[in-house]
Amino acid sequence: LAEEEGFGADELGGEMAAGGGPQPVLAVVGRPNVGKSTLVNRILGRREAVVEDRPGVTRDRVTYHAEWAGRRFKVVDTGGWEQDVLGIDAAVAAQAEFAVAAADAVILVVDATVGATDTDEAVVRLLRRAGKPVVLCANKVDGPSGEADATALWSLGLGEPHPVSALHGRGTGDLLDAVLDAMPEAPPETFGGTVGGPRRIALVGRPNVGKSSLLNKLAGEERVVVDEMAGTTRDPVDELIELGDRTWRFVDTAGIRRRVHLQEGADYYASLRTAAAVEKAEAAVVLIDVSEPISVQDTRIISMAVDAGRALVLAYNKWDTLDEERRFYLEREIERDLVQVRWAPRVNISAQTGRHLEKLVPALDTALESWETRIPTGKLNAFLGELVAAHPHPVRGGKQPRILFGTQAGTRPPRFVLFASGFLEAGYRRFIERRLRERFGFEGSPIQVSVRVRE
Ligand code: GDP
Ligand code: GDP
Repeated sequence: LAEEEGFGADELGGEMAAGGGPQPVLAVVGRPNVGKSTLVNRILGRREAVVEDRPGVTRDRVTYHAEWAGRRFKVVDTGGWEQDVLGIDAAVAAQAEFAVAAADAVILVVDATVGATDTDEAVVRLLRRAGKPVVLCANKVDGPSGEADATALWSLGLGEPHPVSALHGRGTGDLLDAVLDAMPEAPPETFGGTVGGPRRIALVGRPNVGKSSLLNKLAGEERVVVDEMAGTTRDPVDELIELGDRTWRFVDTAGIRRRVHLQEGADYYASLRTAAAVEKAEAAVVLIDVSEPISVQDTRIISMAVDAGRALVLAYNKWDTLDEERRFYLEREIERDLVQVRWAPRVNISAQTGRHLEKLVPALDTALESWETRIPTGKLNAFLGELVAAHPHPVRGGKQPRILFGTQAGTRPPRFVLFASGFLEAGYRRFIERRLRERFGFEGSPIQVSVRVRE
């Protein structure tokens, strides 16, 4: 991976990085071509979600940060998800499944010019079971003459259809007002609401890395299945497992235990599951199979955890299969592909033999502690002052931007805001981030650094 691709932190907008606490998640679901991506672009107020003309384009990043009426939330755009690979009904069902698992509120987008289709009705049934607030968007109502089409969508039984033109922006403000009314202040299912409860861990990795083997090994006889929303989901979702004299909550394990064998679209399901689990967790344990070369899929999953701002532990599994030669190449692959997450604690384990599984808990403890670290403002600015004096920003166009002041705006993960007299180059921001790590550690946690320019 080129350094420029980064692992998230640099790409985060300055505004969101300053926000504190967990944010509720809004999922936008609906059939292909109803205008989901267009709507997401509207909500974001910029052309970030990108309406792809190429079908079957999978986007790695599924969540975007948004703000409306002073409230921050995350938006999940399901628009680009390989719908042609799965077939429309399966794709839409999968979106709904994701919404059930990971979202706090849902916008169902229906094309008002087409009216309610069987697929729309099927997705309504799925969403109903989820018990999450759903707001109905009657899209493509570009003018007053389309209002009647919107009214016809009362038939879906989701309450008032909100007439919207995602393309022109008509009605999107009212839609968002309705969404925010329906959305909880903070996501109740996440760590925000359960301080002091068991730590929430997502066990993730590409298919066959050994997730279910590890889960079984860790759980042993102690396994307690938690039916998270009794009566609303078909599968047990979370499991409580005793490790190192404490209880840990392994989130969204249904997808691990239920071995989904799909000829096509398996990757798609896997990435949905991963995204859902990571959203709900405080820390992610990403499994990597050492018997095979590190793949793009592995680095994608790591990026998901980092982009979501979760604490991270890398577990190199199937260590029992390693010989000298493979070990040599593995270390080089790690150096080449995973250099961006060098800060993540590493455990070399075998889910099969039980090797070094006892090292998982200390690694998680380290990562979670870093994730919650707060650097006092005085200490931070003493550090920044020394650093900037020794390594000033390069002069550009006769100007030299200076860092005036910094503060840690939040934890879980640590988020820093630097106030500067001018735009700081990406390379310089990365340099600051590296030095922050060198000084303060943050082993096992992403850190986010954003810059505000003081005019
Ligand atoms: P998705 O597959 O649901 O994400 O749909 P897209 O956002 O890619 O939109 C599909 C097509 O519908 C694109 O050609 C959009 O320009 C068009 N579209 C989206 N919203 C509107 C709208 O409000 N009015 C009209 N007339 N076209 C729209
Ligand atoms: P999942 O798809 O990530 O849940 O992977 P599984 O747990 O189903 O494991 C996939 C395959 O790898 C199975 O055949 C396991 O027996 C095997 N496996 C898992 N962990 C280990 C390990 O530590 N060593 C070896 N040699 N095989 C393992």
